[in-house]
Amino acid sequence: MPSEPTFRRDPLQGHLALIAPGRSDRPRDETISGEKISGECPFCPGNEKETPPPVYVWGDQPWAGRVVPNKYPAVVPASGGVPTLGHDGPVSGETAGLGLHEVLIEGPDHLKDWNERSSQEIEMLLRVMFLRHEEHAKQAWFRYGVAFRNFGPRSGATLRHPHSQVMALPVVPPQVAEIWQKQAAAFAKGDCLVCLGTDPQRLVCESDTLIAYTAWSPKAAYEICLQSKAHRADLSGGEVMAELAIMLQRLVACYHALIPHPSYNLVIQAPRPQTVPEEHWRMELLLRNQQIAGFEMASGIYLSDITPERAALRLREVLPPRH
Ligand SMILES: [Zn+2]
Ligand SMILES: [Zn+2]
Repeated sequence: MPSEPTFRRDPLQGHLALIAPGRSDRPRDETISGEKISGECPFCPGNEKETPPPVYVWGDQPWAGRVVPNKYPAVVPASGGVPTLGHDGPVSGETAGLGLHEVLIEGPDHLKDWNERSSQEIEMLLRVMFLRHEEHAKQAWFRYGVAFRNFGPRSGATLRHPHSQVMALPVVPPQVAEIWQKQAAAFAKGDCLVCLGTDPQRLVCESDTLIAYTAWSPKAAYEICLQSKAHRADLSGGEVMAELAIMLQRLVACYHALIPHPSYNLVIQAPRPQTVPEEHWRMELLLRNQQIAGFEMASGIYLSDITPERAALRLREVLPPRH
């Protein structure tokens, strides 16, 4: 059986699966839920030979951060062109799992979450994520990009050393394509579905340009949407990236204040290839201490054990002051 990844679309339900058998070989840090350091971390300084050569490095010796191709990628670089897959991927059957999958090693420290980092360090990490998105978007096959950060044992992370991942795909996931279509239809009527989703009762914090609130219909309790207040699809220019770094540092600190060892996902969608000026720039933070179980898998309905309004109140109570 070939080990190359492939996308498969379910003919009945319409969703895409990414079958990536090579990922079963990736190392798992068994200490991820504890405080012990295994000593065999491929992301720690001195173990640089354990990763493919970096595509981007920053900071003083040995380095402050590195971006490397994922050694166990979910999608693989194309050799000799990528087949045209259409707007939202293969209609049925199987298509090569092509694309780019990179790991952003966030620093030399094996145990350091964003609540312990300076906002300048977080700003640099964000800038690198956006730079990689921009680089990937230059590829003729690029249709969809996402950066994500899995932190903690319940987040899906297999290595404890703080890292983010940046992926670029030649297909638009059907769920994302549907969101884009709904937004376009709303804009055409002069409405905005994102503006409709905000409510002062669910406000967590805001800055000049950005606003964070708990999701009206969350996929996980304490899910936070963070977005531009105005209709602007990208964050380039001005001080917005510094604002975003400060806000993320404070929101991650909230999760640590709520739960002793939080697991969470942070998700930043890349701007879509043809930027739509009316769109809001958006990202999500999902606290993952509650497992997704059979009901969610069967129905696509996510259970939450706290109201989003109450969750916003709790988050505001533990929100650290802005320095
Ligand atoms: Zn490490
Ligand atoms: Zn809006």
